[in-house]
Amino acid sequence: MLLKKERELVVEYGRKLLRAGLTTGTGGNLSIVNREKGFMAISASGLNYLDATPKDVVLMDLDGNIVEGERKPSSEHGFHSILYKQREDINAVVHTHSVYATTVACLNMELPAVHYLVGFSGRKVPLAPYATFGSPELAGYVAETIGNYNAVLLANHGLITVGKAIGNAFDAAEELELVARIYIQALSAGKPVLVPDEEMDRVIDKFSTYGQAGGKE
Ligand code: 13P
Ligand code: ZN
Repeated sequence: MLLKKERELVVEYGRKLLRAGLTTGTGGNLSIVNREKGFMAISASGLNYLDATPKDVVLMDLDGNIVEGERKPSSEHGFHSILYKQREDINAVVHTHSVYATTVACLNMELPAVHYLVGFSGRKVPLAPYATFGSPELAGYVAETIGNYNAVLLANHGLITVGKAIGNAFDAAEELELVARIYIQALSAGKPVLVPDEEMDRVIDKFSTYGQAGGKE
């Protein structure tokens, strides 16, 4: 079996997404790229995370071809591969429909620096325009919107996070969901006060040495 380690991590983190309440049913998807081989291991389409085994994870090249696997790959393989092609600093992509991040996306708003933890993305989380799930058009919007951020909101759909390793992309999905929840609550109670850009730059700089060194599996 090719990319055994990556397949196992895709299964493990799919379960973590479900357990952390970041996705429900078969919503969302995730992948890990192996840069040496040039393949990504991506979750199967419409398969419950609890039922998935490493065998169900699909290996694809970054041009949309299946390399190994019996299952149909995630319908969003297009934005996963375009992100790997565009951002050489990332090796994992997580997509969720987490409730508060998706609420912000349904307001067609960006997620601003209402709390310093937005630094998991950058100064903010930008918003990609709406396009049908699984469409090349959506993949194009994601690629146009992400820039150097580590997250993108998908209008009327959900959230994408990227990271050096799958643990980093997962942490970003979890922390940005918290920030989105705080934002929605702050908006319903009054007018949120935002962290200024210069302070966000300090936070982002500090995040680069926060916690343990290296990528996080
Ligand atoms: P898949 O089950 O095909 O990965 O689709 C889920 C999803 O979130 C589509 O945007
Ligand atoms: Zn989705």
